[in-house]
Amino acid sequence: MSGKAAPAWQPPRGLADAELEGRIARLRGDLGEELVILGHHYQSDAVIGQVDLTGDSLKLSQEAARMTRARHIVFCGVRFMAETASILAGSGQSVHLPEPGAGCPMADMAAPDELRTCWRELSERWGDKLLPVTYVNSSAEVKAFCGRRGGAACTSANAKKVLAWALDQGRRVLFLPDRHLGANAALDLGLQPEELCLWRRRPGKLLGAEPRSRVILWDGYCPVHVDFTKGDIKSARSSHPGCVVMVHPECPREVVEAADASGSTEQIIAEAERLPAGSVLVVGTEINLVRRLARQCGDKTVLPLAERRSACPDMARTNLGSLLACLEGLDEGAGLVRVPAGEVEGARQALERMMLLT
Ligand code: SF4
Repeated sequence: MSGKAAPAWQPPRGLADAELEGRIARLRGDLGEELVILGHHYQSDAVIGQVDLTGDSLKLSQEAARMTRARHIVFCGVRFMAETASILAGSGQSVHLPEPGAGCPMADMAAPDELRTCWRELSERWGDKLLPVTYVNSSAEVKAFCGRRGGAACTSANAKKVLAWALDQGRRVLFLPDRHLGANAALDLGLQPEELCLWRRRPGKLLGAEPRSRVILWDGYCPVHVDFTKGDIKSARSSHPGCVVMVHPECPREVVEAADASGSTEQIIAEAERLPAGSVLVVGTEINLVRRLARQCGDKTVLPLAERRSACPDMARTNLGSLLACLEGLDEGAGLVRVPAGEVEGARQALERMMLLT
């Protein structure tokens, strides 16, 4: 669970960043191509400065799996990302998460036992005309549940495509764990609000279901993106007339509708690069990515939509000390991520269905 576990190895205390960086550089030099360090876009600059590849979770996992000389994959991110890398990794590769307590509250909102209860109830109501689709921000066990039932994973970039594939089969779709990504994808595809209903995971209750319900949304959310408001966008437009506002599709529908565009981290980066010099881009997503874009796109102004509400505490857990401790303990299994064998095949099926579609 997010934030609970303590590392079995200890980050060094009292060392200056320059000393930590020097020791990390020596270890990277010693291991050469046997080591690849991945950094999600939401990681701090200090960590991103030490990684070999930066990207979203799926892109990083796929690229690491292709680097067959890399025996050790160190994933600077949160647990579900490292699990995805482990599921896609080759047999000789081990995946390590420097901070075992770096979880994702949204992923934790879809507990496998709650999912089984939900599935049983939906199946009793609608028979076997159901297909599960899970956002990659979910545990390996949830992915495996979906994969075994013919369902697929999706990312924020391809959620619409995967949802369309599922609906085209004439099935009702259980979309989890992010109710906002699911609603945004469904409404963008042209579904009416009345065709969506909600599974309230506690106490386990279906709300708003009708015969015409086509997408059942799990009631999870990202605590960072759910906090952006229409008022934030109004303030940004008033302070920066003519600005472009882009938000992540984990934001509530009313925020996505008030913005000029919505998109995944990679799509936000592409938009920042595409805009002409002199543009002002206001971005509603995690603060580390927004600040980095602001520095990298120096001929434009890139601003956070709500700076003080944009930080993900789980992403911030990884730092130079925990990265160094993980690297020094690789051979002793520091931060080793183990996905139970019984879950790997089903989870891989869910991921591979998505990759075939996209
Ligand atoms: S930003 Fe949101 S979805 Fe991403 S890791 Fe943090 S809590 Fe989870």
